[in-house]
Amino acid sequence: MNHSGTLYVVATPIGNLQDITMRALEVLKSVDVVAAEDTRHSSGLLNHYGIKARLTALHEHNERAAGEKLLELLQGGQSVALISDAGTPAISDPGAVLVNMARAAGVRVVPVPGANAAVAALSASGLLMPRFLFVGFMPAKRTHRREVLESLRDVPVTLVFYEAPHRVLESVEDLAGVLGGERTITFARELTKTFETISSCRLDAAVDWLNADPDRQRGEFVLLVEGAQEREDQAVSEDARRVLTLLLEELPLKQAVKLATDITGAKKNALYELALEMKQHE
Ligand code: SAM
Repeated sequence: MNHSGTLYVVATPIGNLQDITMRALEVLKSVDVVAAEDTRHSSGLLNHYGIKARLTALHEHNERAAGEKLLELLQGGQSVALISDAGTPAISDPGAVLVNMARAAGVRVVPVPGANAAVAALSASGLLMPRFLFVGFMPAKRTHRREVLESLRDVPVTLVFYEAPHRVLESVEDLAGVLGGERTITFARELTKTFETISSCRLDAAVDWLNADPDRQRGEFVLLVEGAQEREDQAVSEDARRVLTLLLEELPLKQAVKLATDITGAKKNALYELALEMKQHE
């Protein structure tokens, strides 16, 4: 029998204190320990809701050591809520190490979902591309940042970045420089807060937009950047993809590709590449 307690991974607001679920408040009230990235910061939230909790610090510099102590508590039957300074823990925030340790030890891990800056930005962006890639923070060093962007240049889905105010200008310069000026960027700034701004323009106009008003470089940012255009000759229709998937389940790769080409009329090379990709992800 497993007598260990539960680790709750609890999302907290990204600005507006009302953005917390009733379930999150219940959990924060009822657990034995709340592990927070910055205990002073989180006591503000807990005080606001009249929650008296036993707080302990778990941040990027002590995650393993603090995690081991918390794991002992969990294994002794206590329940723990993990929160970060804002939004969902473990998303560009500490938390994954503890969650990993807990799961490896057979401790039950329960997500309590809620605010997340990337999803909030996407939801209010009006971007029609249904697929997105969450990149999070780009590297601070310019050369490294440009390398990362080079590796993302051909990705045909919306790219989602987090950025800090002191770096937003040079990051946007690099986005335009590496990805090209024609793509659309959406700035989602200070979401859920007083100076919330959601604004879109072409990447080659983005530096001017930021420079037009010093306030535009203040606060917290999510940057959404349009993905690469899919090359005509590479694009495979949904139908061709479905046919290929079915054939690959029954036939060797070469035969499946040949038949799928005959059936759908799609380009053989494109189907071959796709088949290799599918096999790799099996
Ligand atoms: N765990 C958080 C989440 O679920 O979104 C992210 C934490 S990460 C350390 C902080 C970054 O998230 C900020 O630098 C910014 O890029 C983004 N962010 C957080 N709150 C935001 C807000 N209110 N408006 C825009 N971006 C925000």
